[in-house]
Amino acid sequence: MDAQQKRNIVIVAYYLTRHPKFNPAQHTITLLEATAIASGASGKAGGLLALWAYPSCLVPLSYRLHRELAAEHNGAERWGYRRLGCGSLAAIVRASDIKPTEPKPPLPPTSNGTNGELPIQSTLSDEKTKDWEKLPKQDDKAAGLLQDSPLPHDLDWINGALIQHYEEMGSPGSTETAQVHPFHFTNALADLAKEKGVDIRLRAKVTRIHDLTTAGVRSVVYENRDTEEIRTIDDVTDVVVAAGPWTGKLLPRTRVEGLRAHSVVFEADVSPYAVFTDIQLPTDYAPEHRTSQGQRRRHKGNVDPEIYARPFGEVYACGGPSIPIPLHAVQS
Ligand SMILES: Cc1cc2nc3c(=O)[nH]c(=O)nc-3n(C[C@H](O)[C@H](O)[C@H](O)COP(=O)(O)OP(=O)(O)OC[C@H]3O[C@@H](n4cnc5c(N)ncnc54)[C@H](O)[C@@H]3O)c2cc1C
Repeated sequence: MDAQQKRNIVIVAYYLTRHPKFNPAQHTITLLEATAIASGASGKAGGLLALWAYPSCLVPLSYRLHRELAAEHNGAERWGYRRLGCGSLAAIVRASDIKPTEPKPPLPPTSNGTNGELPIQSTLSDEKTKDWEKLPKQDDKAAGLLQDSPLPHDLDWINGALIQHYEEMGSPGSTETAQVHPFHFTNALADLAKEKGVDIRLRAKVTRIHDLTTAGVRSVVYENRDTEEIRTIDDVTDVVVAAGPWTGKLLPRTRVEGLRAHSVVFEADVSPYAVFTDIQLPTDYAPEHRTSQGQRRRHKGNVDPEIYARPFGEVYACGGPSIPIPLHAVQS
């Protein structure tokens, strides 16, 4: 369950510039990013913040800092900071509950050579080209069934007739859940850090950290990926590495590696809830992407996507982690 209150290098840079001893005339902070701000998990995560999450030694502090950041910088508008309901549910879907979907026309080809499936940061920056999936609307019949459902009455975008069990996360009434839009949050914090003097260099891929001992570091070498020039920053005193799953490549002793998880974002303006699911599918269920290719292989076992209503009219759904990421395949 991902609700451990995200930490990334942009947040580190932001807080360094707010340290009482930070003096831009004396201190230089340089942020080296191999691609773009929020291009990794920090831009594509769920964005959930939960007081019931773990580790309990860190979560209350992080949760409070998020609340304070939002209050200070108008986070509600800038990055969609808000409270939301959160629960886990168990559902049983029978064959008769699954409606056949209309065949979809192929997506138009795009200038980047993909089939119109743009990464989220591209769709956010170019509203006109986005090709959103739509959530099916609840019909009147389904809405009527909600009255007997164990779901909260305003969680009206899940078919209550399928639900066996619903439970609020944490301790009802005493542990809160909130959220941010991770892409907007990370970019806003980068802007705030930059305003206070952080030198943000994009497409700057760190290749080496020199003299990495307990006594400190000396220099950092990086490649400017536009010009392929190799540059060195000398007289470095401190380095913070937050390269997500690539951290282990820069600092092998950390043994940090990645797990792959898939997520999709829908355009839908629904009540603010995040749900952790456990859904039992019909035993003979074969997913449409297989049947449409003439394959009969059935889906085995339950599925458990996390589904979050998100600010700015989105719904985010994420599957569980699969295999470790082959890093050479994803680092562009
Ligand atoms: C699917 C998913 C859902 C999640 N949901 C939540 C959630 O709801 N709530 C929550 O709190 N947390 C969530 N998390 C966890 C959270 O997103 C991460 O813990 C956090 O974003 C990690 O930040 P990071 O900066 O370490 O890594 P990343 O955000 O992955 O950033 C790493 C950056 O390092 C750059 N980089 C890599 N190598 C180099 C190099 N050599 N030189 C320079 N730059 C380099 C990459 O380009 C990338 O931009 C989720 C994670 C995933 C994968």
